[in-house]
Amino acid sequence: MKMQINGKAVESYSGEFFDIINPATGELIDQVPKGTEYDVEIAVEAASSAFNCWASTSPQQRARILYTAAGVVRQRKDELAILLTREQGKPFAESKNEIEGFANVLEYYCGLVSSFHGDFIPVPQNGYSFTIKKPLGVCAAIIPWNMPALIMAWKISPALIAGNTLVLKPASNTPLTNLTLASILSEAGLPPGVINIVTGPGEVVGESLVKNPQVKKISFTGEARTGKRVAELAAGGMKRVTLELGGSDPMIVCDDANLETAVSGALRGRFYNCGQTCTAVKRLFVFESVAEEFIKKLEASIRNLRVGNGLHENIDMGPLNNCRQREYIKELVADVEEKDEGRIVAGGRVPEGSAYSRGYFFEPTLVVDVQRESRLLKEEVFGPVLPVVQVKNLEEAIEEANNTCYGLGASIWTKNIDRVRTGCEQLNAGIIWINQHLKVAPEVPFGGAGESGIGKENGPDALSEYLDLKALMLKI
Ligand code: NAD
Repeated sequence: MKMQINGKAVESYSGEFFDIINPATGELIDQVPKGTEYDVEIAVEAASSAFNCWASTSPQQRARILYTAAGVVRQRKDELAILLTREQGKPFAESKNEIEGFANVLEYYCGLVSSFHGDFIPVPQNGYSFTIKKPLGVCAAIIPWNMPALIMAWKISPALIAGNTLVLKPASNTPLTNLTLASILSEAGLPPGVINIVTGPGEVVGESLVKNPQVKKISFTGEARTGKRVAELAAGGMKRVTLELGGSDPMIVCDDANLETAVSGALRGRFYNCGQTCTAVKRLFVFESVAEEFIKKLEASIRNLRVGNGLHENIDMGPLNNCRQREYIKELVADVEEKDEGRIVAGGRVPEGSAYSRGYFFEPTLVVDVQRESRLLKEEVFGPVLPVVQVKNLEEAIEEANNTCYGLGASIWTKNIDRVRTGCEQLNAGIIWINQHLKVAPEVPFGGAGESGIGKENGPDALSEYLDLKALMLKI
């Protein structure tokens, strides 16, 4: 596949390509151009030239185009989901959810089209004051590989509906779905240059985008370490940034929780997308009094998970997305074993058999009695390993849960309203779930505290991240 600049499919000036590999089979699926700084310049120029016209297109017309694109995405859902599974690895059903999520987010922002106007503000001494909201100009969207379609929608929908133009940089190893979705938007009527996609390495394409003086805002999703680099570079140009970074979400299971529901919640919360979700359950704290029963049920359910190629039938969990990620997970598990910092009661290995020999598979893994100093509790475990820690009560659980630099999501499982209130008030997280984990919706603001980032995506508030608010004061 080629990059997309100014409405055309183009190759990179480097003349080089890199391989996109199916993580379940190790097969080459496609090649994409290895973009350069020069490609970024051309793409930003295209977005800049398209800006005035797009910004002065009526918001209703912008919405009509995005709405048409959402309809085509729904019609082509299966084909897009197959592509997503082939490049990313997740089971087909999860890919379908993600593609539907893309269309939902697009449609949600179309529905907000009449909502982002300024205000009239009366001021003392017969003064009149107004505010107006204007698009910012060229925005950059930098996307990770774990949920490429959904995160693309989170960024492009508010940006485009607000009248901005975009240059999007997909993750190096999952650009295909992003490119196909962008071509659907173009076919639906998005004028050339309004959305441009440059593929290639983060250090080159990502950094040149962030540094480009014509780029007014950067919306980045990825690791905290990369986010800090992006923030540092953006500060040089005093640019607006939204940073959606990593997380180490705690799940707290109280002694009055419905344990069956909590087990399914932990299963989905941890092993959805092979554990590669920013808000996955990355640390589980269970009250001592119910720990034995809960762990027994959890272990049995984990052993029942069917691992395999996401395009095959009845698969619960696919492979990790890439070799580096699987090596990291293997290293974390080996570290626990070596230092005797926890007991592996399920999984812990690369599955055996020819079906797994060429992909990046790892067994769904349960580690109990995890020691506080273990890397499993200190780092963002972005893979299918669930560390469980026993706690005496809610106070101890919250203290442990907050013992992290992250603050993305957290969940509390209880029927007791006082515990719900305490958890909501004291857990340090941007989103707190009660008796569920992982659910997101286009209507609900999403974003973390601490090293999980700055700013929000989703919901009406995300629109203001893409609009400049000007105040006008009149004396008559
Ligand atoms: P990553 O930081 O390695 O890469 C993210 C994107 O940044 C990629 O497109 C990459 O090419 C680009 N990039 C890399 N170096 C760059 C640089 N120096 N300058 C500019 N861009 C650069 O992250 P990843 O491994 O692709 O994604 C996994 C991470 O994303 C996890 O930490 C996960 O928790 C996080 N994540 C967060 C959210 C959220 O909304 N908070 C959602 C999904 C994923």
